[in-house]
Amino acid sequence: MEALRTSVHPPGTTPDAYSDSATLALAAGVSLEHFARKHSLLPFYRTVSREGDAGQRDTYSVETIGYFGTRSSRQSMAIFCPECIKEDKASPRGFAYWRRSHQLPGIPWCVTHGCQLANSPDGTKAFDAMPFPEMDAIFEFSEPEFIEVSTNPIIQRYASIAIAFLNAEVTTPDIHAQFRIAEQAKKHNLRVCIQGKRPTLTDRLLEQVPKYWLRTLYPDIDKHSSTEFFYPIDNVTVGVTAGTSYVLALASLFDSTEEALNYWQGDIEGLPTERKVQRSFGKDYWSSTEMFKLYVEHRGNYKSLSQALTISPSYLRPQLIAAGLPGLGLVNMNTTARAVLDFQTGMSLEAACESNGASRDEVEKLIRIGISKLSTAINEISQSNSIKGSSHQTDDD
Ligand SMILES: [Zn+2]
Repeated sequence: MEALRTSVHPPGTTPDAYSDSATLALAAGVSLEHFARKHSLLPFYRTVSREGDAGQRDTYSVETIGYFGTRSSRQSMAIFCPECIKEDKASPRGFAYWRRSHQLPGIPWCVTHGCQLANSPDGTKAFDAMPFPEMDAIFEFSEPEFIEVSTNPIIQRYASIAIAFLNAEVTTPDIHAQFRIAEQAKKHNLRVCIQGKRPTLTDRLLEQVPKYWLRTLYPDIDKHSSTEFFYPIDNVTVGVTAGTSYVLALASLFDSTEEALNYWQGDIEGLPTERKVQRSFGKDYWSSTEMFKLYVEHRGNYKSLSQALTISPSYLRPQLIAAGLPGLGLVNMNTTARAVLDFQTGMSLEAACESNGASRDEVEKLIRIGISKLSTAINEISQSNSIKGSSHQTDDD
């Protein structure tokens, strides 16, 4: 790799300035973009695009390519199929090459030969040379494990969806991805919010696939306890995560690859309206402890919160106000906020404002928004009282 780097770099530039991907693209005479699309795992890892680069493959930045690059980012292994190498050698070409589909995480078999893929004990260093038949091989799974994994229908679906994503030309915007998975998960009665008692996608997967296979994708899976939200996987329904989790979700939630891909790429009624997408946050989410912690962490700043949750501030605002959490982004914490605290602990409004040098209007506004949850409750109580009152008048005394 170093020799190649030195030989391809244009005169006057330092070879160090080139990533492996850029060096290989330059050596092959193709654009970095083309190289990343056709010869790296980037289309798989970035199958879901973040806000701002929605729906386009053209937005691969040099940094992204450098990061996910030519090698699989999640594993330090160089993976090959012994049978493919034998065939390559016997072909008119006369030499074997590394295949990107073999490097996809979670697919331990060769799609052409069906045999278990081998890892090189040299790790990614092995990529520096062409693969050859006598290469040392390490196998991840024992024979019985391999049979169990390769005949598991969910893992088989995972494999075919992963390969489809690898060859796809377009990405799915994150907000659509989240919506699609959440809608489908709800049909299977799974929980699509952080807090709750219903099982999550992770719980479902643990019933569908062997844990030792899932562990190769998510080493932390052993820390997961039943019905607890496991972010690396369950975040597909509430935020953005890596490509692997979307593939896994689709494989788990559909009975066939075709069905899963049609759903993923097809039109869904109501998509992509903001309201529907955001409904997947769930009504209880805004009043949850999780939300309260986030609110504190972001110092009550709606703008910062809406960015963290990748949702619009215009949607976030009424939800948080209804939950009794006013926006503190513009509130003076030394005057207005202190006056509110003093008022709460028993001072009169006038005295609280005066002693903190706060504007009465500002303080009043904050208090009014702050008690919105209480007023909703009072309204509901009085409504139910009036219904009760009209039908059971005599019981009220
Ligand atoms: Zn093969």
